[in-house]
Amino acid sequence: MVNSTSNIHCEQLFCDSDDQKEFIVEKMNSIEDNNNDNDNKQHESTNDCNGYVYRRQIVWRNVFAMILLHLLAVYAYIYFGLDNRITWYVLFWPDILARISALGVLAGSHRLWSHRSYRARLPLRIFLMILQTMALQNDIYDWCRDHRLHHKHSDTNSDPYNARRGFFFSHMGWLMVRKHPDVISKGKTIDLSDVWSDPVVRFQRRFYIPLVLLLWGILPTYFCHYVTGYTMVDCFFGAVIVRYVLSLHYAWLVNSAAHLYGYRMYDQSMEPRENRMVVYASMGEGYHNYHHAFPWDYSASEHGWLECFNITTAFIDLCVWLGLAYDRKKADKKIIQKRIERTGDHESHRKYFGPGTLVDYLLGIISSYGFLIVTWTLRYLINGKL
Ligand SMILES: [Zn+2]
Ligand SMILES: [Zn+2]
Repeated sequence: MVNSTSNIHCEQLFCDSDDQKEFIVEKMNSIEDNNNDNDNKQHESTNDCNGYVYRRQIVWRNVFAMILLHLLAVYAYIYFGLDNRITWYVLFWPDILARISALGVLAGSHRLWSHRSYRARLPLRIFLMILQTMALQNDIYDWCRDHRLHHKHSDTNSDPYNARRGFFFSHMGWLMVRKHPDVISKGKTIDLSDVWSDPVVRFQRRFYIPLVLLLWGILPTYFCHYVTGYTMVDCFFGAVIVRYVLSLHYAWLVNSAAHLYGYRMYDQSMEPRENRMVVYASMGEGYHNYHHAFPWDYSASEHGWLECFNITTAFIDLCVWLGLAYDRKKADKKIIQKRIERTGDHESHRKYFGPGTLVDYLLGIISSYGFLIVTWTLRYLINGKL
């Protein structure tokens, strides 16, 4: 089953005609359905026949690390955010750095390495690897294994971020407990040979710890110190701790909120949903029902960045324009329509895209910087000036 899935995955990368694409999409769906059925049956049988019962095991070291990280971020927010000795526009920087590093995950380990939805030349792959390391969300190889597992066994015990275990678990709780045995056993069956064949991925994995120290911690701190003149300690809090916590929550919302709240207009049989707030927080990854229906589409959305808020797609298109990327895969409109008719919902599709592009971008920009607007307001109320 695993080999057949990976064969389909490879086939779909090179198919040309609509008929071929449609055939492959249908085949993918039937394989995914079988996988999910088998997964559920296997889980039931291990409980019923072998007497196996999964018990949650909390990893206290990770719990304390998460609490400490968030306490430091709150302290930094109060220290910098509400202190008007820090110039008001400097407060943009942690968020901008968070979003730049997130591109390494979204356009890199997600759309490029996990889904092969487009191809990138060496300079772009190196650039995306640098940003992905800066985001500190596991190296590309491990990230792709977890993400392919997430797609193959969505919302089952084999899914690392199984949303059926609740919002907190799928958001960040999964990092604080031992993995479910199904995640470990099914994870070993995921084919990652294409990911490993990239020397950029192998280089990152080999030197991951020194690269993280340099790209996640030292360079952002020094860059902030050089540009603003603030102390290295202040810069570590602002450019590393606050930036890191923001980027983690932006990414985690895709696994939690986008699997629990929103429209299922392409396939109502699956949990992933179209969630506008997740779209804005994650720069275009919240079209999640579509993404699980057509995971090989480079836009991770039915539309491009000109039709709806999708900064990551705009970035990939810019890279194509610069000659750094090529071979973008896009689902054909006819295939999408057929999928909506077969498994989706026309009415929620109409409602979701009803407001139009301008409103979408305005809402996206306002909500992206909503917490900064709150911060400036508080600064004004406390200090009498921005
Ligand atoms: Zn998902
Ligand atoms: Zn994906």
